[in-house]
Amino acid sequence: MRPARTAIDAMPRSGIREVMDLARGRPGVLHLEVGEPDFQTPPHIVEAAARAVRDGHTKYTANAGTDALREAIAGKFARVNGLAVERDQVVVTHGAINALLTALMVLVEPGEGILVPDPGWPNYGMIATMLGARAVPYPLDASADYEPDLERLASLAATPGVKVLLVNSPGNPTGAVWSREALERVVEIAREHDLYVLSDEVYEEIVFEGEHVSPAVYDTDGRVLTVSAVSKTYAMTGWRIGYLAATSALAALAAKTQEAIVACPNSMAQAAAEAALTGPQDCVTEMCDAYRRRRDVAVAALSAAGLLINEPRGAFYILADVSRVTTDTDAFARSLVLDHGLAVAPGATFGPGGSRAVRLSLASPADVIEEGVARLAGATASGTIRGAVT
Ligand code: PLP
Repeated sequence: MRPARTAIDAMPRSGIREVMDLARGRPGVLHLEVGEPDFQTPPHIVEAAARAVRDGHTKYTANAGTDALREAIAGKFARVNGLAVERDQVVVTHGAINALLTALMVLVEPGEGILVPDPGWPNYGMIATMLGARAVPYPLDASADYEPDLERLASLAATPGVKVLLVNSPGNPTGAVWSREALERVVEIAREHDLYVLSDEVYEEIVFEGEHVSPAVYDTDGRVLTVSAVSKTYAMTGWRIGYLAATSALAALAAKTQEAIVACPNSMAQAAAEAALTGPQDCVTEMCDAYRRRRDVAVAALSAAGLLINEPRGAFYILADVSRVTTDTDAFARSLVLDHGLAVAPGATFGPGGSRAVRLSLASPADVIEEGVARLAGATASGTIRGAVT
């Protein structure tokens, strides 16, 4: 039998999932590894889905999603992002991840390059691999609050074959919220080098300081594609509804790829997403306030333990500096699970830029975060770490 595709065989899994698998079912382990809100989906959203099922909305929808949801998403772009987007520019997808894959399938030929943040969400590199494309990392430095070095970015944008510049603000795992000026310049750089910008804005409504700005506000010629989802904003990760906004020509191509991948997003989950986007928004503010309080707890505890790198300004993650005890964060994260009852994401999974850190999720209650930091501090102090610097 001939082998399966070697690129997929060789593709590393996300280290976050590996830790999740190791920690699953182990009694007493504190879970700070996964980026999933611990809140329940608000009841009015759940009720909208139940109603949709009862009313018989249990069939395929159009590939690009229902008209009603696409209009609700266009309304959200006006309300939250200050963007004028028509319904035919919107494609509803199976979570943001499906929107990112679809966008990159439409834009990138095999062998072409995608500029991705380092540290950044590992799935960007996985998608590049699956498409036979190249992920070209651009470094984000803690000393600059994980904003890009714009000169460096401009020189990487000139790399032959690079076609897409991927932006993720607020960022995972950094918690960076890029400034208006930086984002304006990023779009300018893309224009100068004829790149598309793919902006992953899934954490757009989880901002503690600064403001969320969509790079598309600086778009003059349809080169910025915007991705978001209801997953993080409304505690709806399992419902799997994301979306993409682009020119109507690119959106039509994206909808065509959906036919081959998922046919359409789940119909009752679309009804739930519509209720989320058009219903009361106080749940969004309440959850964001809770994440802010947890961020403050984590900052204070990490700072006291001498492990703080910087204060996240958005999203729900914080990086802890473990470089004084390990150079192998994968082994260290495994040891934390097995020996210290703590599950966190190994920094190396986010690229070389994450290799001195582990990532803690703030999507857990404050007392769990406090106890988690205490266990991490204990582990870094005890020297009983497999994978430790010797
Ligand atoms: N983009 C980033 C930066 C993420 O961190 C995640 C999930 O962790 C996603 C996209 C995926 O979102 P969804 O669950 O809507 O596919």
